[in-house]
Amino acid sequence: MSAINSGEIDLAVVGAGPAGLAAATTAAELGLAVSVFDENATPGGQIYRGIEAVAAKRGADFAVLGDAYRAGESIVRDFRASKAAYAPNTGVWLVQKDRQLGIVRDGKAGMVAARRVLIATGAQERPVPIPGWTLPGVMLAGAAQGLLKSAGMVPAGPVVLAGNGPLLYQLAAQLVAAGVKIAALLETRSERAAALPHLPAALMAGNYLAKGLGLIAAVKRAGVPIRRGVTELRALGCERLEAVEVAAGGRTERIDAALLCLHQGVVANVQLSLAIPLKHEWSAAQRCWRPVVDQWGNSDVEGIAVAGDCAGIGGAEAAAHAGRIAAFEAARALGRIDAAARDTHAASDLAAWRRHLRARPFLDALYPPAQGLVVPADDVPVCRCEEVTAGQVRDAVRQGGTGPNQVKSFTRSGMGPCQGRMCALTVSEVIADALGKPVAEIGTYRIRPPIKPLTVGELAALE
Ligand SMILES: Cc1cc2nc3c(=O)[nH]c(=O)nc-3n(C[C@H](O)[C@H](O)[C@H](O)COP(=O)(O)OP(=O)(O)OC[C@H]3O[C@@H](n4cnc5c(N)ncnc54)[C@H](O)[C@@H]3O)c2cc1C
Repeated sequence: MSAINSGEIDLAVVGAGPAGLAAATTAAELGLAVSVFDENATPGGQIYRGIEAVAAKRGADFAVLGDAYRAGESIVRDFRASKAAYAPNTGVWLVQKDRQLGIVRDGKAGMVAARRVLIATGAQERPVPIPGWTLPGVMLAGAAQGLLKSAGMVPAGPVVLAGNGPLLYQLAAQLVAAGVKIAALLETRSERAAALPHLPAALMAGNYLAKGLGLIAAVKRAGVPIRRGVTELRALGCERLEAVEVAAGGRTERIDAALLCLHQGVVANVQLSLAIPLKHEWSAAQRCWRPVVDQWGNSDVEGIAVAGDCAGIGGAEAAAHAGRIAAFEAARALGRIDAAARDTHAASDLAAWRRHLRARPFLDALYPPAQGLVVPADDVPVCRCEEVTAGQVRDAVRQGGTGPNQVKSFTRSGMGPCQGRMCALTVSEVIADALGKPVAEIGTYRIRPPIKPLTVGELAALE
Protein backbone atom coordinates (compact mmCIF):
# COMPACT_ATOMS: atom_id res chain seq x y z
CA MET A 1 0.00 0.00 0.00
CA SER A 2 1.70 3.23 -1.16
CA ALA A 3 0.97 6.73 0.18
CA ILE A 4 -0.13 8.36 -3.06
CA ASN A 5 -0.50 6.81 -6.51
CA SER A 6 2.58 7.63 -8.54
CA GLY A 7 0.66 7.74 -11.83
CA GLU A 8 -2.68 9.41 -12.58
CA ILE A 9 -5.27 9.20 -9.80
CA ASP A 10 -8.68 8.00 -10.99
CA LEU A 11 -10.40 8.53 -7.67
CA ALA A 12 -9.19 10.72 -4.81
CA VAL A 13 -11.05 9.94 -1.59
CA VAL A 14 -10.99 12.47 1.25
CA GLY A 15 -11.63 10.66 4.54
CA ALA A 16 -10.79 7.16 5.79
CA GLY A 17 -13.97 6.47 7.76
CA PRO A 18 -16.42 3.71 6.80
CA ALA A 19 -17.61 5.64 3.72
CA GLY A 20 -14.15 6.44 2.35
CA LEU A 21 -12.69 3.02 3.17
CA ALA A 22 -15.55 1.09 1.58
CA ALA A 23 -15.46 3.35 -1.48
CA ALA A 24 -11.69 2.98 -1.89
CA THR A 25 -11.72 -0.82 -1.46
CA THR A 26 -14.56 -1.25 -3.96
CA ALA A 27 -13.13 1.19 -6.51
CA ALA A 28 -9.71 -0.49 -6.32
CA GLU A 29 -11.37 -3.88 -6.88
CA LEU A 30 -12.94 -2.41 -10.02
CA GLY A 31 -9.47 -1.48 -11.29
CA LEU A 32 -9.44 2.25 -10.47
CA ALA A 33 -6.24 3.93 -9.27
CA VAL A 34 -7.41 5.19 -5.86
CA SER A 35 -5.72 7.47 -3.32
CA VAL A 36 -7.21 8.03 0.13
CA PHE A 37 -6.23 11.13 2.12
CA ASP A 38 -6.97 11.46 5.82
CA GLU A 39 -5.68 13.78 8.50
CA ASN A 40 -5.76 10.98 11.08
CA ALA A 41 -2.75 8.71 11.61
CA THR A 42 -4.70 5.46 11.11
CA PRO A 43 -7.79 4.39 9.13
CA GLY A 44 -11.25 4.06 10.72
CA GLY A 45 -12.73 7.56 10.89
CA GLN A 46 -14.65 8.69 13.96
CA ILE A 47 -16.45 5.49 14.84
CA TYR A 48 -13.55 3.07 14.30
CA ARG A 49 -10.83 5.41 15.56
CA GLY A 50 -7.73 3.50 16.67
CA ILE A 51 -9.26 0.13 15.75
CA GLU A 52 -6.05 -1.48 14.47
CA ALA A 53 -4.23 -0.82 17.75
CA VAL A 54 -7.20 -2.07 19.76
CA ALA A 55 -7.54 -5.18 17.56
CA ALA A 56 -3.83 -5.92 18.01
CA LYS A 57 -4.30 -5.93 21.79
CA ARG A 58 -7.74 -7.65 21.66
CA GLY A 59 -9.65 -8.53 24.83
CA ALA A 60 -10.48 -5.84 27.34
CA ASP A 61 -10.64 -2.80 25.04
CA PHE A 62 -13.18 -4.44 22.72
CA ALA A 63 -15.31 -5.30 25.73
CA VAL A 64 -15.28 -1.61 26.72
CA LEU A 65 -15.87 -0.17 23.24
CA GLY A 66 -18.61 -2.62 22.23
CA ASP A 67 -19.69 -4.66 19.20
CA ALA A 68 -20.50 -1.64 16.99
CA TYR A 69 -16.83 -0.65 17.29
CA ARG A 70 -15.54 -4.16 16.63
CA ALA A 71 -17.47 -4.16 13.32
CA GLY A 72 -14.82 -1.83 11.93
CA GLU A 73 -12.12 -4.50 12.03
CA SER A 74 -13.13 -6.13 8.73
CA ILE A 75 -13.70 -2.86 6.87
CA VAL A 76 -10.19 -1.65 7.77
CA ARG A 77 -8.63 -5.06 7.05
CA ASP A 78 -10.23 -5.19 3.57
CA PHE A 79 -8.98 -1.68 2.87
CA ARG A 80 -5.42 -2.53 3.92
CA ALA A 81 -5.53 -5.62 1.64
CA SER A 82 -6.73 -3.56 -1.33
CA LYS A 83 -4.60 -1.82 -3.95
CA ALA A 84 -5.81 1.63 -2.85
CA ALA A 85 -3.01 4.05 -1.91
CA TYR A 86 -3.32 5.58 1.55
CA ALA A 87 -1.96 8.90 2.77
CA PRO A 88 -2.48 9.21 6.54
CA ASN A 89 -1.62 12.39 8.48
CA THR A 90 -2.60 14.28 5.33
CA GLY A 91 -5.06 17.14 5.54
CA VAL A 92 -7.00 18.28 2.49
CA TRP A 93 -7.33 22.07 2.64
CA LEU A 94 -8.67 22.70 -0.84
CA VAL A 95 -10.70 20.92 -3.51
CA GLN A 96 -11.08 22.83 -6.76
CA LYS A 97 -13.89 22.32 -9.24
CA ASP A 98 -11.30 21.02 -11.73
CA ARG A 99 -10.53 18.25 -9.19
CA GLN A 100 -7.17 19.53 -8.04
CA LEU A 101 -6.68 18.88 -4.34
CA GLY A 102 -4.54 20.89 -1.96
CA ILE A 103 -2.95 18.59 0.64
CA VAL A 104 -0.62 19.16 3.56
CA ARG A 105 1.66 16.49 4.99
CA ASP A 106 4.93 16.46 6.94
CA GLY A 107 4.96 20.26 7.04
CA LYS A 108 4.64 20.62 3.27
CA ALA A 109 1.69 21.66 1.13
CA GLY A 110 1.21 20.15 -2.30
CA MET A 111 -1.33 19.77 -5.08
CA VAL A 112 -2.58 16.52 -6.59
CA ALA A 113 -4.94 16.06 -9.53
CA ALA A 114 -7.62 13.39 -9.81
CA ARG A 115 -10.10 12.39 -12.49
CA ARG A 116 -12.79 12.12 -9.84
CA VAL A 117 -13.10 13.15 -6.18
CA LEU A 118 -15.13 11.58 -3.38
CA ILE A 119 -15.62 13.69 -0.29
CA ALA A 120 -16.15 11.41 2.73
CA THR A 121 -15.28 13.77 5.57
CA GLY A 122 -17.97 12.45 7.94
CA ALA A 123 -19.64 14.18 10.82
CA GLN A 124 -18.73 16.57 13.59
CA GLU A 125 -20.44 17.20 16.88
CA ARG A 126 -22.99 20.01 17.08
CA PRO A 127 -21.60 22.80 19.25
CA VAL A 128 -23.20 23.01 22.71
CA PRO A 129 -22.71 26.64 23.81
CA ILE A 130 -23.77 26.72 27.46
CA PRO A 131 -22.52 29.24 30.03
CA GLY A 132 -19.02 28.10 31.06
CA TRP A 133 -18.45 25.77 28.09
CA THR A 134 -14.99 27.24 27.46
CA LEU A 135 -13.71 26.25 30.94
CA PRO A 136 -11.00 23.57 31.09
CA GLY A 137 -12.76 20.35 32.10
CA VAL A 138 -15.66 20.84 29.67
CA MET A 139 -15.51 18.98 26.37
CA LEU A 140 -17.77 17.47 23.76
CA ALA A 141 -18.65 13.82 24.35
CA GLY A 142 -17.03 12.71 21.09
CA ALA A 143 -13.70 14.19 22.18
CA ALA A 144 -13.81 12.17 25.41
CA GLN A 145 -14.70 9.10 23.37
CA GLY A 146 -11.84 9.82 20.96
CA LEU A 147 -9.37 9.78 23.87
CA LEU A 148 -10.82 6.47 25.04
CA LYS A 149 -10.52 4.89 21.58
CA SER A 150 -7.16 6.27 20.51
CA ALA A 151 -5.28 6.40 23.80
CA GLY A 152 -7.29 4.25 26.23
CA MET A 153 -7.65 7.38 28.42
CA VAL A 154 -10.46 7.52 30.97
CA PRO A 155 -11.36 10.53 33.10
CA ALA A 156 -10.45 10.74 36.77
CA GLY A 157 -12.81 12.46 39.22
CA PRO A 158 -16.55 12.92 38.99
CA VAL A 159 -17.86 12.92 35.39
CA VAL A 160 -21.15 14.48 34.28
CA LEU A 161 -22.63 13.78 30.84
CA ALA A 162 -25.22 16.22 29.50
CA GLY A 163 -27.33 16.69 26.40
CA ASN A 164 -29.08 14.03 24.35
CA GLY A 165 -28.66 11.58 21.48
CA PRO A 166 -27.37 8.03 20.99
CA LEU A 167 -23.69 9.00 21.28
CA LEU A 168 -24.24 10.32 24.82
CA TYR A 169 -25.59 6.94 25.94
CA GLN A 170 -22.89 5.16 23.95
CA LEU A 171 -20.17 7.11 25.79
CA ALA A 172 -21.91 6.54 29.13
CA ALA A 173 -22.01 2.78 28.51
CA GLN A 174 -18.36 2.76 27.41
CA LEU A 175 -17.24 4.72 30.49
CA VAL A 176 -19.25 2.45 32.76
CA ALA A 177 -17.64 -0.61 31.11
CA ALA A 178 -14.23 1.00 31.67
CA GLY A 179 -15.00 1.31 35.39
CA VAL A 180 -15.55 5.10 35.43
CA LYS A 181 -18.01 6.42 37.99
CA ILE A 182 -20.50 8.78 36.35
CA ALA A 183 -21.88 11.35 38.79
CA ALA A 184 -24.93 12.12 36.62
CA LEU A 185 -26.35 11.87 33.12
CA LEU A 186 -28.43 14.97 32.38
CA GLU A 187 -30.79 14.47 29.43
CA THR A 188 -31.96 17.77 27.95
CA ARG A 189 -34.95 16.60 25.98
CA SER A 190 -36.32 13.60 24.17
CA GLU A 191 -39.54 13.94 22.18
CA ARG A 192 -41.18 10.52 22.39
CA ALA A 193 -44.56 11.69 21.04
CA ALA A 194 -43.01 13.36 17.99
CA ALA A 195 -40.86 10.31 17.31
CA LEU A 196 -43.63 7.72 17.65
CA PRO A 197 -45.02 7.99 14.08
CA HIS A 198 -41.53 7.12 12.77
CA LEU A 199 -41.19 4.06 15.01
CA PRO A 200 -42.49 1.40 12.54
CA ALA A 201 -40.01 2.50 9.86
CA ALA A 202 -37.18 2.53 12.41
CA LEU A 203 -38.05 -1.01 13.52
CA MET A 204 -37.60 -2.15 9.90
CA ALA A 205 -34.20 -0.46 9.64
CA GLY A 206 -32.16 -2.92 11.66
CA ASN A 207 -31.32 -3.36 15.31
CA TYR A 208 -30.89 0.35 16.11
CA LEU A 209 -33.59 0.42 18.76
CA ALA A 210 -32.40 -2.76 20.43
CA LYS A 211 -28.86 -1.33 20.48
CA GLY A 212 -30.09 1.95 21.96
CA LEU A 213 -32.22 0.26 24.61
CA GLY A 214 -29.25 -1.99 25.45
CA LEU A 215 -27.05 1.06 26.07
CA ILE A 216 -29.69 2.76 28.25
CA ALA A 217 -30.16 -0.47 30.21
CA ALA A 218 -26.39 -0.81 30.78
CA VAL A 219 -26.23 2.76 32.09
CA LYS A 220 -29.21 2.19 34.40
CA ARG A 221 -27.82 -1.13 35.64
CA ALA A 222 -24.64 0.64 36.64
CA GLY A 223 -26.74 2.93 38.85
CA VAL A 224 -25.89 6.14 36.97
CA PRO A 225 -28.24 8.88 38.27
CA ILE A 226 -30.26 10.13 35.27
CA ARG A 227 -32.13 13.49 35.26
CA ARG A 228 -34.60 13.94 32.42
CA GLY A 229 -36.23 17.11 31.07
CA VAL A 230 -33.21 19.32 31.75
CA THR A 231 -33.98 22.90 30.68
CA GLU A 232 -30.82 24.76 31.75
CA LEU A 233 -27.18 23.84 32.11
CA ARG A 234 -24.28 25.88 33.41
CA ALA A 235 -20.63 24.89 33.86
CA LEU A 236 -19.30 26.51 37.05
CA GLY A 237 -15.70 27.19 38.08
CA CYS A 238 -12.94 29.80 38.13
CA GLU A 239 -9.76 28.35 36.66
CA ARG A 240 -11.46 25.11 35.60
CA LEU A 241 -14.73 23.21 35.92
CA GLU A 242 -15.79 22.64 39.51
CA ALA A 243 -19.51 21.87 39.24
CA VAL A 244 -22.49 21.72 36.90
CA GLU A 245 -25.67 23.64 37.66
CA VAL A 246 -28.74 21.99 36.21
CA ALA A 247 -32.39 22.99 36.11
CA ALA A 248 -34.98 20.24 35.58
CA GLY A 249 -38.64 19.93 36.59
CA GLY A 250 -38.62 23.33 38.35
CA ARG A 251 -35.62 22.42 40.57
CA THR A 252 -32.09 23.72 40.31
CA GLU A 253 -29.27 21.53 41.55
CA ARG A 254 -25.47 21.75 41.75
CA ILE A 255 -23.42 18.65 40.98
CA ASP A 256 -19.66 18.57 41.66
CA ALA A 257 -17.74 17.56 38.53
CA ALA A 258 -14.17 17.39 37.26
CA LEU A 259 -15.28 16.65 33.69
CA LEU A 260 -18.43 17.66 31.83
CA CYS A 261 -19.07 15.93 28.49
CA LEU A 262 -21.63 17.76 26.35
CA HIS A 263 -23.49 16.36 23.37
CA GLN A 264 -26.39 17.48 21.17
CA GLY A 265 -26.06 15.08 18.26
CA VAL A 266 -23.77 15.09 15.26
CA VAL A 267 -24.07 17.15 12.09
CA ALA A 268 -22.62 16.83 8.59
CA ASN A 269 -19.04 18.11 8.29
CA VAL A 270 -19.46 20.43 5.32
CA GLN A 271 -16.36 22.65 5.52
CA LEU A 272 -14.77 21.15 2.41
CA SER A 273 -17.95 20.85 0.35
CA LEU A 274 -18.92 24.45 1.22
CA ALA A 275 -15.46 25.71 0.25
CA ILE A 276 -15.63 24.23 -3.29
CA PRO A 277 -18.53 25.32 -3.24
CA LEU A 278 -21.05 22.54 -3.87
CA LYS A 279 -24.75 23.35 -3.70
CA HIS A 280 -26.08 22.88 -0.14
CA GLU A 281 -29.49 22.74 1.49
CA TRP A 282 -30.74 23.11 5.06
CA SER A 283 -32.00 19.89 6.62
CA ALA A 284 -34.79 20.91 8.99
CA ALA A 285 -34.93 17.39 10.45
CA GLN A 286 -31.20 17.23 11.27
CA ARG A 287 -30.91 20.98 11.82
CA CYS A 288 -27.74 21.31 9.75
CA TRP A 289 -26.49 22.00 6.22
CA ARG A 290 -25.76 19.21 3.77
CA PRO A 291 -24.68 19.09 0.12
CA VAL A 292 -27.35 18.33 -2.46
CA VAL A 293 -26.51 14.93 -3.97
CA ASP A 294 -28.31 12.21 -5.91
CA GLN A 295 -28.50 8.57 -4.82
CA TRP A 296 -25.03 7.92 -6.33
CA GLY A 297 -23.50 10.74 -4.33
CA ASN A 298 -23.10 13.01 -7.38
CA SER A 299 -23.06 16.71 -6.47
CA ASP A 300 -23.89 19.63 -8.73
CA VAL A 301 -20.20 19.81 -9.76
CA GLU A 302 -19.19 17.28 -12.43
CA GLY A 303 -16.77 14.65 -11.10
CA ILE A 304 -17.13 15.54 -7.41
CA ALA A 305 -19.23 13.19 -5.28
CA VAL A 306 -20.03 13.05 -1.56
CA ALA A 307 -20.73 9.96 0.59
CA GLY A 308 -21.33 9.12 4.23
CA ASP A 309 -22.27 11.39 7.10
CA CYS A 310 -20.96 14.53 5.39
CA ALA A 311 -23.90 14.16 2.98
CA GLY A 312 -26.37 13.96 5.91
CA ILE A 313 -26.22 11.89 9.07
CA GLY A 314 -27.04 8.24 8.44
CA GLY A 315 -24.64 6.32 10.70
CA ALA A 316 -21.65 4.11 10.04
CA GLU A 317 -23.42 1.26 8.25
CA ALA A 318 -25.27 3.59 5.88
CA ALA A 319 -21.94 5.39 5.28
CA ALA A 320 -20.19 2.19 4.19
CA HIS A 321 -23.01 1.37 1.76
CA ALA A 322 -22.98 4.93 0.42
CA GLY A 323 -19.22 4.64 -0.11
CA ARG A 324 -19.60 1.47 -2.17
CA ILE A 325 -22.47 3.00 -4.17
CA ALA A 326 -20.28 6.02 -4.96
CA ALA A 327 -17.45 3.68 -6.05
CA PHE A 328 -19.68 1.88 -8.55
CA GLU A 329 -20.77 5.25 -9.93
CA ALA A 330 -17.13 6.38 -10.16
CA ALA A 331 -16.31 3.27 -12.18
CA ARG A 332 -19.24 4.05 -14.50
CA ALA A 333 -18.34 7.70 -14.87
CA LEU A 334 -14.73 6.79 -15.70
CA GLY A 335 -15.83 4.25 -18.32
CA ARG A 336 -14.80 1.07 -16.47
CA ILE A 337 -18.32 -0.36 -16.31
CA ASP A 338 -21.55 0.63 -18.03
CA ALA A 339 -24.70 1.88 -16.32
CA ALA A 340 -26.34 -1.57 -16.39
CA ALA A 341 -23.32 -3.16 -14.64
CA ARG A 342 -23.27 -0.33 -12.09
CA ASP A 343 -26.95 -0.88 -11.33
CA THR A 344 -26.42 -4.63 -10.89
CA HIS A 345 -23.33 -4.21 -8.69
CA ALA A 346 -24.94 -1.50 -6.55
CA ALA A 347 -28.41 -3.04 -6.11
CA SER A 348 -27.81 -4.70 -2.74
CA ASP A 349 -25.92 -1.69 -1.33
CA LEU A 350 -28.68 0.67 -2.48
CA ALA A 351 -31.31 -1.48 -0.78
CA ALA A 352 -29.29 -1.75 2.45
CA TRP A 353 -28.44 1.98 2.43
CA ARG A 354 -32.14 2.92 2.12
CA ARG A 355 -33.04 0.47 4.90
CA HIS A 356 -30.48 1.97 7.31
CA LEU A 357 -31.67 5.48 6.53
CA ARG A 358 -35.21 4.51 7.65
CA ALA A 359 -33.99 4.73 11.26
CA ARG A 360 -33.04 8.40 10.95
CA PRO A 361 -36.46 10.17 11.06
CA PHE A 362 -37.17 8.40 14.37
CA LEU A 363 -33.80 9.31 15.90
CA ASP A 364 -33.92 12.88 14.55
CA ALA A 365 -37.41 13.42 15.98
CA LEU A 366 -36.59 11.74 19.30
CA TYR A 367 -33.42 13.73 19.99
CA PRO A 368 -33.79 17.29 18.65
CA PRO A 369 -31.25 19.75 20.06
CA ALA A 370 -32.68 21.84 22.89
CA GLN A 371 -33.63 25.35 21.67
CA GLY A 372 -31.90 26.99 24.67
CA LEU A 373 -28.64 25.33 23.69
CA VAL A 374 -28.64 26.08 19.96
CA VAL A 375 -29.73 29.69 20.61
CA PRO A 376 -27.78 30.64 23.76
CA ALA A 377 -28.14 33.66 26.07
CA ASP A 378 -26.27 36.93 25.39
CA ASP A 379 -23.29 36.31 27.70
CA VAL A 380 -22.37 32.91 26.19
CA PRO A 381 -19.37 32.82 23.82
CA VAL A 382 -20.38 31.30 20.49
CA CYS A 383 -17.15 31.79 18.50
CA ARG A 384 -14.49 30.38 20.80
CA CYS A 385 -11.53 31.36 18.59
CA GLU A 386 -12.41 35.07 18.43
CA GLU A 387 -14.31 35.16 21.75
CA VAL A 388 -17.54 36.53 20.27
CA THR A 389 -20.68 36.15 22.38
CA ALA A 390 -24.26 35.49 21.29
CA GLY A 391 -25.03 39.04 22.52
CA GLN A 392 -22.44 40.53 20.13
CA VAL A 393 -24.01 38.58 17.27
CA ARG A 394 -27.42 40.00 18.25
CA ASP A 395 -25.90 43.52 18.41
CA ALA A 396 -24.55 43.06 14.89
CA VAL A 397 -28.04 42.06 13.74
CA ARG A 398 -29.49 45.19 15.39
CA GLN A 399 -26.90 47.24 13.49
CA GLY A 400 -28.24 45.83 10.22
CA GLY A 401 -26.38 42.54 9.82
CA THR A 402 -28.67 40.27 7.86
CA GLY A 403 -26.57 37.13 7.61
CA PRO A 404 -23.51 35.26 8.88
CA ASN A 405 -21.09 36.88 6.43
CA GLN A 406 -22.02 40.41 7.51
CA VAL A 407 -21.95 39.40 11.17
CA LYS A 408 -18.51 37.90 10.52
CA SER A 409 -17.16 41.21 9.23
CA PHE A 410 -18.80 43.16 12.12
CA THR A 411 -17.60 40.85 14.92
CA ARG A 412 -14.78 38.60 13.53
CA SER A 413 -16.87 35.52 14.44
CA GLY A 414 -15.73 32.60 12.27
CA MET A 415 -12.37 34.22 11.41
CA GLY A 416 -10.24 32.22 13.87
CA PRO A 417 -8.19 29.08 13.36
CA CYS A 418 -11.21 26.76 13.12
CA GLN A 419 -12.61 28.90 10.28
CA GLY A 420 -16.14 28.79 11.65
CA ARG A 421 -16.34 25.02 12.07
CA MET A 422 -17.38 25.40 15.72
CA CYS A 423 -19.60 28.48 15.52
CA ALA A 424 -21.21 28.50 12.06
CA LEU A 425 -24.36 26.66 13.08
CA THR A 426 -24.85 28.66 16.29
CA VAL A 427 -24.29 32.02 14.56
CA SER A 428 -26.86 31.16 11.86
CA GLU A 429 -29.34 29.95 14.52
CA VAL A 430 -28.90 33.12 16.63
CA ILE A 431 -29.37 35.39 13.59
CA ALA A 432 -32.43 33.42 12.43
CA ASP A 433 -33.94 33.66 15.91
CA ALA A 434 -33.20 37.39 16.17
CA LEU A 435 -34.77 38.12 12.79
CA GLY A 436 -37.63 35.63 13.21
CA LYS A 437 -36.68 33.84 10.00
CA PRO A 438 -35.91 30.20 9.18
CA VAL A 439 -32.18 29.26 9.19
CA ALA A 440 -32.58 28.09 5.59
CA GLU A 441 -33.11 31.75 4.62
CA ILE A 442 -30.23 33.03 6.73
CA GLY A 443 -27.56 30.80 5.18
CA THR A 444 -24.10 30.09 6.55
CA TYR A 445 -20.57 31.47 6.34
CA ARG A 446 -18.94 31.60 2.93
CA ILE A 447 -16.09 29.15 3.56
CA ARG A 448 -12.88 29.81 1.68
CA PRO A 449 -9.80 27.62 1.32
CA PRO A 450 -7.56 26.87 3.07
CA ILE A 451 -10.25 25.32 5.28
CA LYS A 452 -7.61 24.65 7.93
CA PRO A 453 -4.69 26.89 8.92
CA LEU A 454 -1.56 26.51 6.79
CA THR A 455 1.78 27.95 7.83
CA VAL A 456 3.85 30.08 5.47
CA GLY A 457 6.49 27.33 5.60
CA GLU A 458 3.96 24.73 4.47
CA LEU A 459 2.77 26.99 1.66
CA ALA A 460 6.33 27.69 0.56
CA ALA A 461 6.65 24.02 -0.41
CA LEU A 462 4.05 24.57 -3.18
CA GLU A 463 5.59 24.71 -6.63
C1 LIG B 1 -16.82 12.61 17.56
C2 LIG B 1 -17.73 11.56 16.98
C3 LIG B 1 -17.81 10.29 17.57
C4 LIG B 1 -18.65 9.33 17.05
N1 LIG B 1 -18.75 8.11 17.67
C5 LIG B 1 -19.64 7.20 17.22
C6 LIG B 1 -19.84 5.95 17.88
O1 LIG B 1 -19.20 5.66 18.89
N2 LIG B 1 -20.76 5.09 17.39
C7 LIG B 1 -21.48 5.38 16.27
O2 LIG B 1 -22.31 4.57 15.85
N3 LIG B 1 -21.30 6.54 15.61
C8 LIG B 1 -20.42 7.46 16.06
N4 LIG B 1 -20.30 8.66 15.42
C9 LIG B 1 -21.00 8.85 14.16
C10 LIG B 1 -20.07 8.16 13.14
O3 LIG B 1 -18.87 8.89 13.13
C11 LIG B 1 -20.57 8.16 11.76
O4 LIG B 1 -21.86 7.65 11.63
C12 LIG B 1 -19.63 7.38 10.83
O5 LIG B 1 -18.31 7.32 11.31
C13 LIG B 1 -19.66 8.06 9.51
O6 LIG B 1 -18.68 7.54 8.69
P1 LIG B 1 -18.02 8.46 7.57
O7 LIG B 1 -17.12 7.57 6.80
O8 LIG B 1 -19.07 9.21 6.85
O9 LIG B 1 -17.16 9.55 8.37
P2 LIG B 1 -16.07 9.47 9.51
O10 LIG B 1 -16.02 8.16 10.15
O11 LIG B 1 -16.30 10.65 10.36
O12 LIG B 1 -14.70 9.67 8.72
C14 LIG B 1 -14.36 10.89 8.14
C15 LIG B 1 -12.86 10.97 8.02
O13 LIG B 1 -12.55 12.12 7.25
C16 LIG B 1 -11.37 12.71 7.76
N5 LIG B 1 -11.37 14.11 7.36
C17 LIG B 1 -12.33 15.03 7.58
N6 LIG B 1 -11.99 16.20 7.01
C18 LIG B 1 -10.77 16.01 6.42
C19 LIG B 1 -9.89 16.85 5.69
N7 LIG B 1 -10.21 18.10 5.40
N8 LIG B 1 -8.71 16.32 5.27
C20 LIG B 1 -8.39 15.04 5.54
N9 LIG B 1 -9.20 14.19 6.23
C21 LIG B 1 -10.37 14.68 6.65
C22 LIG B 1 -11.48 12.49 9.27
O14 LIG B 1 -10.19 12.50 9.84
C23 LIG B 1 -12.15 11.12 9.35
O15 LIG B 1 -11.19 10.10 9.50
C24 LIG B 1 -19.44 9.63 15.91
C25 LIG B 1 -19.34 10.88 15.32
C26 LIG B 1 -18.50 11.84 15.82
C27 LIG B 1 -18.43 13.20 15.17
